[in-house]
Amino acid sequence: MISIILDKCIGCGICIRNCPFNAIKVENRKAVILDNCTSCGACVSSCKPGAIDFQKDEAEDPEDFSNYSGVWVFAEQKDNSVLQVVLELLGGGRKLADTLSVPLSAVLLGSKIEDQANTLFAYGADRVYLVEDESLENYNDESYADIFTQLVNKYKPEIVLVGATAYGRSLAPRVASRLNTGLTADCTELGIDPETKNLLQTRPAFGGNLMATIICPDRRPQMATVRPKVMKPMEPDYSRKGEIIRPDVLIPDNLLIKVIERVHTVYEKVSLTEADIIVSGGRGLGDAKNFELVRELAEVLGGAVGASRATVDAGWIDYSHQIGQTGRTVGPRVYFACGISGAVQHLAGMSSSDIIIAINKDADAPIFKIATFGIVGDVLEVLPELIKEFRARL
Ligand SMILES: Cc1cc2nc3c(=O)[nH]c(=O)nc-3n(C[C@H](O)[C@H](O)[C@H](O)COP(=O)(O)OP(=O)(O)OC[C@H]3O[C@@H](n4cnc5c(N)ncnc54)[C@H](O)[C@@H]3O)c2cc1C
Ligand code: SF4
Ligand code: SF4
Repeated sequence: MISIILDKCIGCGICIRNCPFNAIKVENRKAVILDNCTSCGACVSSCKPGAIDFQKDEAEDPEDFSNYSGVWVFAEQKDNSVLQVVLELLGGGRKLADTLSVPLSAVLLGSKIEDQANTLFAYGADRVYLVEDESLENYNDESYADIFTQLVNKYKPEIVLVGATAYGRSLAPRVASRLNTGLTADCTELGIDPETKNLLQTRPAFGGNLMATIICPDRRPQMATVRPKVMKPMEPDYSRKGEIIRPDVLIPDNLLIKVIERVHTVYEKVSLTEADIIVSGGRGLGDAKNFELVRELAEVLGGAVGASRATVDAGWIDYSHQIGQTGRTVGPRVYFACGISGAVQHLAGMSSSDIIIAINKDADAPIFKIATFGIVGDVLEVLPELIKEFRARL
């Protein structure tokens, strides 16, 4: 609990700026804590006279988590088919579950979707919590978050993993907030602390310049989102069997949002995150119209088109193509970086590619440090040559 020691308060108001919730005002030259204070404690160190008293509520002591057990993966589906990222999360989740000696479960929401349970078992799930209803055919923030929360409250998993897709990024914070638990977004590595059994959630911080490992010791479940292509799926084994559980849940019917129609936006023939070959363009292309060369090479190779943020910011290409820390994470077999310098934020999204081919006129460009093959030259001259050569061979 937060309170003001009136004798010490000089009414300077510095604490107001340090409260992220606008929960302090100064009245009659004394600070007053308002009802919307969350007891986060962020204001305490800002008060030089030491006038803010922070008493940890006894009720806030860590709960007994012994009744929370198991690792869950949200089995996001599109057109009644689970996404590749779900299989990747099952691969990562399997290792966590084995380390903790607990079951790995998938949570599958949809309509007429039971057949997908076999895929989830083949890729490592021991159990599938299946909720089928016509209203769940399309993803809906309200109903999905509501049902997912009901399931967590009922079955109490200790870890929940969600793919950092557009829908996953929308679902996970809604569920975490309803459960009053923590959520670490865009993890690149997950592990288990051998002593405390807490989930170790590692993700880039400070612009990708350092990796932070985050724990959630005082709340359950521990929730994390992971981007596509960060984890590896297991080899599928379709002889694996598991248990389908059909929980008794309340399907919300009073929704504020109704999905009327789903329209597929066609940006590219090959999906970026699934592509084996990606040809990416950077500022070195010099002009939006030169992206045609990147598109042409991608088409010849049957690959997808990527881009650096500089080109997206310049309006040369749509954001959906951006690779990097604030774009997509990809891991193709071959990645062409055409006129891309290799900034750390770009590397954060593509450095796990098997083969990186960089084209840059500056022999000292950082991209060459991680490139498998480097071509020092003008991208506007090199790309037409590559297109010609590959066209002749493929
Ligand atoms: C918080 C934050 C998040 C970010 N997120 C991302 C992200 O998700 N993705 C991302 O890409 N960036 C991101 N950035 C931006 C990043 O720091 C770089 O600014 C950006 O990646 C640079 O793009 P670029 O390589 O295309 O351009 P530049 O850095 O300008 O590099 C252009 C390169 O092209 C070469 N070149 C020039 N002309 C030619 C030519 N004719 N032929 C061959 N080579 C040529 C140059 O030598 C140079 O190396 C982020 C930055 C911040 C601060
Ligand atoms: S910073 Fe401290 S002294 Fe200043 S108004 Fe806030 S509580 Fe009072
Ligand atoms: S404890 Fe947090 S919410 Fe409460 S006044 Fe201080 S900064 Fe604001």
